[in-house]
Amino acid sequence: MFKALHPTQSAPISIRDYIHLSRTSPSIGDARCPACEQPLLVKGDIDPKKAIKTHFAHRRDPTAPVCPIKSEGAIRYEVLTDALPDTEASVALRTRFFENWTYHWHQFKKYVRAVDIKDFASALRAVDTKGVWKYRDIEEHEVIIAMLATLDFQPVTDNKGKVLRSSWVRFWFRSDVANLQEFWNLGDGQKVMIRAEYELPAKATMIREDKFRDFSVLEVDSDYLENEAYAQVPEFVRIVMSERFPRMIVVPA
Ligand SMILES: [Zn+2]
Repeated sequence: MFKALHPTQSAPISIRDYIHLSRTSPSIGDARCPACEQPLLVKGDIDPKKAIKTHFAHRRDPTAPVCPIKSEGAIRYEVLTDALPDTEASVALRTRFFENWTYHWHQFKKYVRAVDIKDFASALRAVDTKGVWKYRDIEEHEVIIAMLATLDFQPVTDNKGKVLRSSWVRFWFRSDVANLQEFWNLGDGQKVMIRAEYELPAKATMIREDKFRDFSVLEVDSDYLENEAYAQVPEFVRIVMSERFPRMIVVPA
């Protein structure tokens, strides 16, 4: 990891800044993992070959909590509602989500940053097929959280070689949240996601802690549903969505 939580503040700190800080303030303490809050080691700083860049690493501690960042891609959140029946509430939620889809698209883009409407459509298709609407405690603004948490956003280059998304982006919950249901159960003010950026090629098959480049902590809120600017989308965006979801979204006139 090349960024971690500051030892005493709730802000990210880079490995360089941390090394500088720990030299000027030796009693500052260890930087912490943003997901499990465990103190982290600094590794690689004395390596003469410099083949290993200085980075933060978790301690090998079998009694430490399971951490999604440490676990090398083993943890993948899934929409698990298949056994639950469709209820009136789930049908109503689905209808409402599609009525407000432009708001959800704008907020989704804000969370992921470099993303296009086809990513949104694919992510929505995936959670729709899995019946995300059937979770008893899910709220409308949390459907996009399920979309973010269950998908990886690989680096993308267009056909002219222009980089559209340079990092591999993955969203994690804090380590005490093992699945989506546990996330929906959290109280107000406790619902945060960690947006992690990895330095991995698009073809990589596994997320790795030593490729963890950057992160930000996102607070989940529903205010965006009141943002009138989010009612508007460009016509091509509407066309893509109406083609992907013809029964739910009307083709532009
Ligand atoms: Zn951790």
